[in-house]
Amino acid sequence: LQHILPVDDDLLEKVFITVKTTGRNHLTRLPVIIRTWFQLAKKQTWFFTDTNDQHLSRVTGGHVINTNCSATHSRRALCCKMSVELDVFLETKKKWFCHVDDDNYVNVPALDELLKMYNPIGDWYLGRTSTPKPLQIRAKSQKTTFWFATGGAGFCLSRALVLKMAPISGNGKLMAIGDRIGLPDDVSVGYVIEHLLKIQLTRVEQFHSHLEPMRLIKKDLFNEQLTFSYSLDNEPNTVDVDGFNEITDPTRFLSLHCFLFPEASSCVEK
Ligand code: UDP
Ligand code: MN
Repeated sequence: LQHILPVDDDLLEKVFITVKTTGRNHLTRLPVIIRTWFQLAKKQTWFFTDTNDQHLSRVTGGHVINTNCSATHSRRALCCKMSVELDVFLETKKKWFCHVDDDNYVNVPALDELLKMYNPIGDWYLGRTSTPKPLQIRAKSQKTTFWFATGGAGFCLSRALVLKMAPISGNGKLMAIGDRIGLPDDVSVGYVIEHLLKIQLTRVEQFHSHLEPMRLIKKDLFNEQLTFSYSLDNEPNTVDVDGFNEITDPTRFLSLHCFLFPEASSCVEK
């Protein structure tokens, strides 16, 4: 069963999708996103980066936000970006915040279907865990455990929840939280929601990061998955899908896109 090619006007009008990226990934990771799923959610998707880039701004219709966070993979820099993503979301009127990394493919109609199942008036933290046990930390000499959604798989928060987080972690305060617990941005978000606000993560297994073997996702279930990812290290970890060759499509995202949306313009043979 294939999706009908969605029209981005009437899809996902309630969601704000943030893609975390960095200057040095603009030409390596973003082109395949812009050619594929971004085309189905152009109005909803914004790239959060750390470098000015006129070309990127042009090809995304100006959907680029320079966070002015440092261009390093440091915990502080990543918490800084996440914090700007959440702050900018609150300036919009959108009901849902969904964060992804720049090595994620977002299955736009599936995300739309997911969000229809929850009422954004409630407090919703939707995502996938990647640890077998909740994280245990020592805060004020007390052991506490909490779950967090893996940022690299993508996760969504309802507006009601982000509003509750704001006094604690809004306006750049997420960086101080990260400093306090000494853990990355996605863990800091989990700490604020599960530990401080006592709101539980709702596990949604259809979000995927490259911490899992991508080849285990079955083709006949592709259209139900919310996100996919890849890593192209020494041991490549990519979605198993036929289509374009490995040279044209090392990430497999072009092939995946054409599997899901055969009628997309980049998929139709000319
Ligand atoms: N990233 C960033 N600044 C950096 C390095 C990475 O904002 O200096 C972002 C990157 O664009 C991606 C996310 O952080 O969205 C995770 O980076 P990556 O996939 O390279 O590493 P991983 O943590 O998945 O191994
Ligand atoms: Mn990654």
